[in-house]
Amino acid sequence: MKTHLNCPCGEVLTGSDEDVLVERTQAHLAQVHPTMSYTREEILLMAW
Ligand SMILES: [Zn+2]
Repeated sequence: MKTHLNCPCGEVLTGSDEDVLVERTQAHLAQVHPTMSYTREEILLMAW
């Protein structure tokens, strides 16, 4: 189960499970990096 992701901006995103992590990552991208978008598969590839 992957629950952490290091965003290229230096922020570490965490979630209690993969679904939450993907949601939180997409919310972070929308807020901080509106020009970037990743699919669930891409997010989970980068997650750890
Ligand atoms: Zn970021």
